[in-house]
Amino acid sequence: MATANGILNGLEVIEFEFAETPRSTPENPRYYKEVLKVLLSDGTVVYNCVWQNCEFTRPKASGVWPHVKAHKNQTRAPKATAEPSEIDVDGLPLAEVIERARKATWYSVQLDAALKKLDKATHEVEKWKPRATAAEKQLATIRNAFAAVA
Ligand SMILES: [Zn+2]
Repeated sequence: MATANGILNGLEVIEFEFAETPRSTPENPRYYKEVLKVLLSDGTVVYNCVWQNCEFTRPKASGVWPHVKAHKNQTRAPKATAEPSEIDVDGLPLAEVIERARKATWYSVQLDAALKKLDKATHEVEKWKPRATAAEKQLATIRNAFAAVA
């Protein structure tokens, strides 16, 4: 509200109170928390935003109410960068990404090593295959020789 000096719209503020909402009844009064009903020195009534030094006025309370959101966005934005707890929350996924990247690298190295071992083993099998086949043939020849003797 712009009544620090008691002036609103260039006129002196006679009195002000919280503005009633459209649902307000004499039995059950309801008030806007952030809209003031202001009586000015020339007898006009205007509705004013409750925020300090704000001169936003409308002839109806319902016209001021949507404007109040602008102040809430203003206070929320700097908070998001200033509060350490909120920065920590932002930093958590990054730490997780790094951790996952580390694990992925480790698994990649392990996989590389395993593939190299498999490759080496495959080569050795290939190398031993002819010798095994040769040994089999020798054994068969020996068996045949014994069979011939018996
Ligand atoms: Zn305002």
